[in-house]
Amino acid sequence: SSSEQAVGTFSDLPLSPEIREAIEAIGYETPSPIQAEAIPYLAEGRDLLGVAQTGTGKTAAFALPLLSDLNTSAGGPQILCLAPTRELAIQVAEAFETFGQRMKNFRSLAIYGGDEYRRQIKGLREGAHVVVGTPGRIMDHLRKGTLKTDKIKALILDEADEMLRMGFIDDVEWILEQVPAKRQILTFSATLPPPIQRIAQKYLKDPAHVVIKSDTATANSIEQTCVFLNP
Ligand code: AMP
Repeated sequence: SSSEQAVGTFSDLPLSPEIREAIEAIGYETPSPIQAEAIPYLAEGRDLLGVAQTGTGKTAAFALPLLSDLNTSAGGPQILCLAPTRELAIQVAEAFETFGQRMKNFRSLAIYGGDEYRRQIKGLREGAHVVVGTPGRIMDHLRKGTLKTDKIKALILDEADEMLRMGFIDDVEWILEQVPAKRQILTFSATLPPPIQRIAQKYLKDPAHVVIKSDTATANSIEQTCVFLNP
């Protein structure tokens, strides 16, 4: 799976009409390599182990196919995403909102520690379809029963190595044990330290592997310069 090859267009990818319209409204023209590689697997319902950094377009790579398969006529979380920080949780929840902009009644919610429970419980009661949160607070809501797992179809571990580094890995594993057995699991990580490999081996079923090499992982929008100095 080379990330150098031509990646085609969004119309080559299996996405719903609402998602195609949103992509057009947002202005994405060409799928990034991780999107071109991962979307067909995810649309088939495969588990996925993605080795990719931020800036590769990984959020759309998982959000677009999962949203294409989401049913907004029923309330309650169908997609649960774990993220290492409050900032990333908010950013990913907003990305889901943006991609789901053409889907009727669609709601995405960020929940994280340090924020009042009242807003989060209200959002959950109102039937958020996508919940993105930090592991500790997601665990609290699962224990309280305010976050229901019966409709969850997909679970995403975003920046898994960061969650490990920040000491959340036991919480992540506890959450993995709570969600229904039939769910699709996606793990994205910039690196694959042994504890992440172990989690992937234990919880992912026949996962597709998508590796976006780090020399191609820098977003084109980031300008890189190198200045040589005389000592
Ligand atoms: P991410 O790696 O998911 O954090 O995305 C990095 C940035 O790339 C975000 O600002 C996205 O909006 C943008 N992006 C993702 N996919 C595409 C695409 N196919 N075309 C243009 N921009 C994109």
